[in-house]
Amino acid sequence: MTVIRGATTIAQDDKEEIRKAVGELLEQIESRNGLARSEVMSIVFSSTSDIHSYYPAKAAREAGFESCSLFSAQEPEIDGGLKLCIRAMLFVEKNLTPTHVYLRGAKSLRKDIAQKINIAIDGPAGSGKSTIAKRLAEDLHILYLDTGAMYRACALKALDAGIDVESEEQICDMLRGLSLNIEYENGAQKTVLDGKDVSEEIRRPRVSMAASTVSKYRSVRLKMVEKQREIAQKMSCVLDGRDIGTFVLPEADFKFYLTASPEVRAKRRYDELVAKGYSVDFDALREEIVRRDEQDMNREIAPLKQADDAVLVDTSDLTVEEVLKTVKRKMQERI
Ligand code: C5P
Repeated sequence: MTVIRGATTIAQDDKEEIRKAVGELLEQIESRNGLARSEVMSIVFSSTSDIHSYYPAKAAREAGFESCSLFSAQEPEIDGGLKLCIRAMLFVEKNLTPTHVYLRGAKSLRKDIAQKINIAIDGPAGSGKSTIAKRLAEDLHILYLDTGAMYRACALKALDAGIDVESEEQICDMLRGLSLNIEYENGAQKTVLDGKDVSEEIRRPRVSMAASTVSKYRSVRLKMVEKQREIAQKMSCVLDGRDIGTFVLPEADFKFYLTASPEVRAKRRYDELVAKGYSVDFDALREEIVRRDEQDMNREIAPLKQADDAVLVDTSDLTVEEVLKTVKRKMQERI
């Protein structure tokens, strides 16, 4: 006997959706495993607790599984678990090496066999990108890549070495000797510059504007973008930045552009910095954020802008949970 597993998701809790998704899942399991219908002895379905409209087992019966035994159960609600998901376990008479099948949103359940997904989140400073990208990556069990950290590390190196960030030539020279590595410890990104963990140092306020300045230079961007593409090609990840959807990964599976009013964005940064013990002048910070956005939006190469196919989310009046919910709902709608 062989046990084959499968899962799929639906866009909304609707009878027709369930019938279609179950039919598609079973058909794929059959064809990818070379099964004849008569070889399926029984199927156990489970569905997440947000599905009420129809029994997957009934949908299977209607899809032509007439003689095998069928059963449906509901799963408990798990924090951060996939929504609107139907899972199936097929018991098959013959012995074979099973090909488990994960369709639609359920692909993210199995990183080993699933198709890779890349999610791009762009937007100006303080729009909530990194908070949302981090949470989304955690919930989907995929990697979070903070691309701003790379430009920040580059700026930090220049500042520490007394190099003029306004001089493209000097920055280019510096770039040749730059050793920058992105590492992960317990899922958290570590930015390692010349062998030293600079994850905290790059958050210093003086580094922000310098990062924006060095990120204008073609050689800097190309070097960083190459690293970002290399990571994104290898694995599923959520990347946040300014040009992910437009330049780094124009083919990303999902694209979001987060924004918020300058006041709200400055307040978020202010609170963040004060919590870290920095003394900050709110008006100066607000002005710096606006100047940084302007510089980012008006540079020649890969400026900050919303990709045509990105979903715009104004986070000014939304909580983190609300933004996350919006982003996930938009993703479900597209699956
Ligand atoms: O996101 P964060 O504030 O850490 O980014 C610092 C600076 O790095 C930005 O102001 C921007 O100039 C630059 N950056 C970029 N492209 C990215 C990410 C960040 O140009 N993908």
